Amino acid sequence: MLRREFVALVAAAPAFGEEPPIRVQLTTGGHAHDISFYGVFEGDRALRIDVNPHPSAFRRDLRKSVDVLVMYDMVDVDGEKERSNLQAFVEADKGLVVLHHALCGNWRWKWWYEEVVGGRYLMGDDAGMKKSTFKHDVDIAVKPVAEHPVVKGVGPFTVFDETYKGMWLSPKSRVLLETDHPDGDRAVAWIGPHAKSRVAVIQLGHGPEAHRHPVYRRLVSNAIHWAARR
Ligand SMILES: [Zn+2]
Repeated sequence: MLRREFVALVAAAPAFGEEPPIRVQLTTGGHAHDISFYGVFEGDRALRIDVNPHPSAFRRDLRKSVDVLVMYDMVDVDGEKERSNLQAFVEADKGLVVLHHALCGNWRWKWWYEEVVGGRYLMGDDAGMKKSTFKHDVDIAVKPVAEHPVVKGVGPFTVFDETYKGMWLSPKSRVLLETDHPDGDRAVAWIGPHAKSRVAVIQLGHGPEAHRHPVYRRLVSNAIHWAARR
């Protein structure tokens, strides 16, 4: 028993000369999800992940303790202090990875969707744009359309997942993955336009089929490493 614990401890410790871990805050809340989601991060030993959901997610200054913020939440950040902490983090040359239903959060915060995420799932009609739609349980054929570290090692693939349609996409976003599924928007992954932080957005990722898909896991891992400048 003791011996096994010791071995586990040694295996987890970074070897001499190894890079320090990428410190990730994983923020959830506002949307139920299958426990399989946490398996997405299995096998990436470079990450040290703290799950910090709403409402505590942005109560403190994240700049000293977090390298990459991974959002899998669906909550509008409304509090003044929470907004300024999130804004300060993004303005500090950090990393941000926005997954799936996190595209629906902050849909009325212009700075967030125009300057940071470069995309917006409309939760209601707004300024001449219609509410976005979604469709569960479809086979989505996806192909990379750009060369980028986030799609490194990723070829065309099919995933049983959920589509979003009628989103606003910034002309400044750099699209990495596309589908021609009739119930979805073309762009399913892109790089957000923020000038300082590195922002990667992946629309996919609803349920266990996506969470367990080796290509999805690779995309998320690539996105975190790129956002952390590793
Ligand atoms: Zn979903």
